Amino acid sequence: MMVQDKSLIKGLALNDIAVKGGKYVANWRAYKPEIDYEKCVACGLCISYCPEAAINQTDDKMPKIDYRFCKGCGICANECPQKAITMIQEDES
Ligand code: SF4
Ligand code: SF4
Repeated sequence: MMVQDKSLIKGLALNDIAVKGGKYVANWRAYKPEIDYEKCVACGLCISYCPEAAINQTDDKMPKIDYRFCKGCGICANECPQKAITMIQEDES
């Protein structure tokens, strides 16, 4: 059974969640992606593959992960042709 704690989405508009199509991540994600911007060539593949639409494109075309929605699935890291994304344990950062 899923427990929804509304205090976890404090400060986040509910329609923001609806637009993203995902659920806000609380503290259960074990791994999270980290982008090495020295390797990234701004190809945008990670943005396309992310099933949660958790990666946005900045004005300079670089990807930026919105950790409110990232589930830590690792697809972006798998698909990145530059190997610019590393999955790290949450407590390592
Ligand atoms: S897939 Fe890799 S190289 Fe392409 S934009 Fe994402 S992080 Fe950068
Ligand atoms: S780990 Fe999964 S959910 Fe998080 S940004 Fe990468 S593809 Fe998206």
